[in-house]
Amino acid sequence: MGLTLDAYRRLTPLPRPGGLLYVKPGARGFRDPVYDLLQKTVKPFGERALDLNPGVGWASLPLEGEMSVERLETSRAAYLCLQASGLRARLALPWEAEEEGYDLVVLALPAGRGTAYVEASLVAAARALRPGGRLYLGGDKNKGFERYFKEARDLLGYGEVLRREGPFRVALLEKEKPSPPLPPLWRGFQAQILGETFAFRHLPGVFSAGKVDKASLLLLEALVGEVGREGVRGRRVLDLGAGYGALSLPLARLGGEVVGVEDDLASVLSLRRSLEENGLRAQALHSDVDEALTEGEGFDIIVTNPPFHVGGAVILDVAQAFVEAAAARLKPGGGFFLVANPFLKYEALLEARFGNAKTLLAREYKVLFAKKEGGA
Ligand code: SAH
Repeated sequence: MGLTLDAYRRLTPLPRPGGLLYVKPGARGFRDPVYDLLQKTVKPFGERALDLNPGVGWASLPLEGEMSVERLETSRAAYLCLQASGLRARLALPWEAEEEGYDLVVLALPAGRGTAYVEASLVAAARALRPGGRLYLGGDKNKGFERYFKEARDLLGYGEVLRREGPFRVALLEKEKPSPPLPPLWRGFQAQILGETFAFRHLPGVFSAGKVDKASLLLLEALVGEVGREGVRGRRVLDLGAGYGALSLPLARLGGEVVGVEDDLASVLSLRRSLEENGLRAQALHSDVDEALTEGEGFDIIVTNPPFHVGGAVILDVAQAFVEAAAARLKPGGGFFLVANPFLKYEALLEARFGNAKTLLAREYKVLFAKKEGGA
């Protein structure tokens, strides 16, 4: 515990050949064995390279200066690092890469983001390569490497594993086949929430694809129990880590002036599309925690279903930063609602930050509530 917002936001420079490499909490791709193995393996080939899951830029770093290297990144936190490091990067989805524009593609399999996203990334890699171009593919055999390597061979043609360290692998493939078509990317589903119907639309890779997370439903139920349906109307509401809007949409429907902040571009686009689909208005900001909000922007209600521990301390750093941001941005008298796994000990953190904390609901998940002192 005790990661302050300043510490979360800080970019740390590390020496690299020809400059500095910036890293920060919440940004992927550093001290990650798959990225390390790619970094030790990649060799320049041709003139133009593309990194489709760069994180802070570590894996494709040896290509820098040897050829032109472009990077498409979806995480705002990682993008802030790439920019600070002076590495050429664009906030974009992997399938937005220029077609047949590259001699070399580097892809660390985005294994934590679900099969649909990984498969779309593989197709994106195949499409981005010119005929005869090469793909370095890094992954973990405990996270589907073998299966995805086979899929990549089906898409491209030739491929072999170049390096193995423990469960980690790097393969090199060559594009022998014509570019594959993109699979359909947008999906949709309906959900009943607080007695109303919502039509969600989302891209691959978002949290809780195809079905609203049970924890999000519990948070809303507890919130309405605490403030009442009318207690949201006209209030400024902040949704930390908004995803495709499982919390933001119902709160906007209740009349809240909702701002959703979200680090992942696929989620931000999904949130915007879902709002539109339901005729609702809210701000959907691509933001590393509250970084895109203006200084001093305050809220009456702050909600979050924070990212949890799915391999990597990074995730808990973000959850802590969410709590810090809530404490900093709640107006006096405002309330913070957080839903979490029962085994995660957020109570102490809320007590420390707000001076109070109570459990509103405890089932498969618990909904915690803290109030900012002062006000009515
Ligand atoms: N509120 C949504 C999503 C919850 S999952 C729902 O209830 O369904 C947590 C969300 O936090 C994910 O969408 C994830 O992309 C986002 N997230 C992770 N790190 C973040 C960061 N640094 N800043 C903002 N959002 C982040």
